[in-house]
Amino acid sequence: MKDLNCSVVIVGGGPAGLAAAISAKKNGAENVIVIERENRLGGILKQCIHAGFGLQYFGEELTGPEYAEKFAVLAKEAGIEFMLDTTALNIKEKTLVCVNSEGIINIHFGALVLAMGCRERTRANLVIPGSRPAGIYSAGTAQKLINIFGHKVGKEVVILGSGDIGMIMARRLSLNGAKVKAVVEIMPYLAGLVRNKAQCLDDFNIPLLLSHTVVDITGVDRVESVTIAPVDENRRPIMEKAETISCDTLLLSVGLIPENELTRSADVELSSITKGAVVNQYIPSFSS
Ligand SMILES: Cc1cc2nc3c(=O)[nH]c(=O)nc-3n(C[C@H](O)[C@H](O)[C@H](O)COP(=O)(O)OP(=O)(O)OC[C@H]3O[C@@H](n4cnc5c(N)ncnc54)[C@H](O)[C@@H]3O)c2cc1C
Repeated sequence: MKDLNCSVVIVGGGPAGLAAAISAKKNGAENVIVIERENRLGGILKQCIHAGFGLQYFGEELTGPEYAEKFAVLAKEAGIEFMLDTTALNIKEKTLVCVNSEGIINIHFGALVLAMGCRERTRANLVIPGSRPAGIYSAGTAQKLINIFGHKVGKEVVILGSGDIGMIMARRLSLNGAKVKAVVEIMPYLAGLVRNKAQCLDDFNIPLLLSHTVVDITGVDRVESVTIAPVDENRRPIMEKAETISCDTLLLSVGLIPENELTRSADVELSSITKGAVVNQYIPSFSS
């Protein structure tokens, strides 16, 4: 077991954690440590290879990995310390308990910043009926498999959810040689940006079915089809109007949930709206 002391410790080396680390340094924190469980900084943006990042912060249009890299360079130049491949497990009083290949590390801090990002809602969260074959991915998992590991995830795809991640993945899969048969959205309106509908769906002739949902998944080893149905004003499927679409892949892009296990372990008050920590606008002062 190892013990470390620091003014500020930050959990999460994504853009939020890196921005917080740079800001803490600028505002007088002596030693700042960022804890990141992956082997690279940048968080989710490492896999977001589309452009559209950086206009506000860097005044130029960047891809996610470029934006993440620029932030990481700024943070390194500011003298921030990083512990990669290290997972924060628990918070006890003013100690953050972490683990990595060397064992347990207790980090005693003056201030703690929680910037663990979010994870995606899954099929289990939605309770979609049907069999349980291969070929059902969250949009982010598919994005990681394609953009980071260079795999193909499927040939004929249906996407549930019209948020920006779902639409961006519709375009990515099309560019990757797949046929995206439909983007299905339970609400009567688009969840993401109209710009993304134009650039990611309309430009690729991908149909958007509003007020529809997936009511069944069939397939033994691999997905063979999904059944979709329109929904009424109470979002109840109208089964008489259900139709089956043959496909080998279903992508779920149905919302994000904050990574808040650590937040809970520290007894931090959670917002019933965001499910993340309750925050305010006041600027803290740092002490060692
Ligand atoms: C699949 C997906 C695609 C997205 N695409 C876009 C997009 O195109 N454009 C956009 O603006 N936003 C996108 N987002 C939203 C995106 O999450 C944010 O814009 C941005 O990444 C948030 O930054 P963050 O630092 O809060 O979180 P993240 O980028 O998620 O970073 C959090 C970091 O914390 C680390 N971490 C978590 N728990 C621990 C722990 N216990 N110990 C150590 N490390 C930990 C994680 O490994 C991760 O590196 C996407 C989100 C997802 C899930």
